[in-house]
Amino acid sequence: MNPLPPGSTIGILGGGQLGRMLAIAAAQLGFDVHIFTDEPDSPASRVAAKTAIGSYQDHAALADFARHVHVVTTEFENVPAETAEALIAAGARVAPTPNALAIAQDRFDEKSYFLSAGIATPPFKAIGSQDDLDAAIFEIGAPAILKTRRLGYDGRGQIRIKTAADAKGAYAKLGAPGILEGFCAFEREVSIIAARGLDGTIAFYDLNENEHAGGILSRTTLPANVSEATSIEAQAAAQRVLEAFDYVGVLTIEFFVMPDGSLIANEMAPRVHNSGHWTIEGALTSQFEQHIRAVAGWPLGPTTRIAAIEMLNLIGEDANAWPQLAADPTARLHLYGKRDVRAGRKMGHVTKLKSS
Ligand code: AMP
Repeated sequence: MNPLPPGSTIGILGGGQLGRMLAIAAAQLGFDVHIFTDEPDSPASRVAAKTAIGSYQDHAALADFARHVHVVTTEFENVPAETAEALIAAGARVAPTPNALAIAQDRFDEKSYFLSAGIATPPFKAIGSQDDLDAAIFEIGAPAILKTRRLGYDGRGQIRIKTAADAKGAYAKLGAPGILEGFCAFEREVSIIAARGLDGTIAFYDLNENEHAGGILSRTTLPANVSEATSIEAQAAAQRVLEAFDYVGVLTIEFFVMPDGSLIANEMAPRVHNSGHWTIEGALTSQFEQHIRAVAGWPLGPTTRIAAIEMLNLIGEDANAWPQLAADPTARLHLYGKRDVRAGRKMGHVTKLKSS
């Protein structure tokens, strides 16, 4: 495929803050953006040329969207894989592929996929009943974490099982098919953001070190406090996943770093990621521009990091501090334009660049 010329239209499924930052990056390269979302008045639609509001199951609306865009990409991984298939059937080019979306949506399939690619995971078992859970606790042991297979994010849909007694009634409480994972006594959490272009070129950003509060990312810092060998292991894992999927775009893998420096994969996101927001100011090419470049068939940009980084998420009422943050010369402030402040909602972030 020839690179899409400026003036072409990029379609984005999803209207959240990731779509908003993708749309801003696309505009910078001269593209128009159309958003498809089921949410009226979304953060992304307010910076895009056009928005179609419809259900991800509405094939007629999807076909109409497909006719008006030159490529379709996604900003959240829970876009049903059938939606991507329907767009392809309607003649759209879709990146990433429906297969990558489908696997990343199901924690059991995702972990099985990691293992097949030679990437270590916590011990895990699929759970479809309380009996399965009891057997899995017997096999994996406690502490462990019971998670829903699908639609869990930011720590939602998870039950911590500290001792075997906590497993009693836990399947009913989860309320959906699940996966039991052995608890990893990790030293720190990191993520790698990598991109693959249409020509197969791969680029990596430096490893992000991530801190979570209540299951939600709260702080990312770089450089990550890990050895060179650990960074190389993360890059090798990302490369295997990108190549196995014949992936085009940005992909993120989250890992636990164990005390011996080895990595255990937690999950992947077939998209730009919260832990990469620092790349807007802190890298020569932001993750958002990189993703747009990849899906448009442009060469990837340089990923060099230009400073030490601290990125802080503004969750819920944190965003009410915007007057102070706006007055802080060390903080680059991003607000997502969400109308209501709600507890646990990602409202914005700040990035601080420091001399390394
Ligand atoms: P997740 O939604 O799966 O990314 O989980 C949210 C957070 O819960 C992770 O970033 C970890 O801090 C923690 N967590 C999830 N799974 C495990 C595990 N198997 N062992 C230890 N901590 C975990």
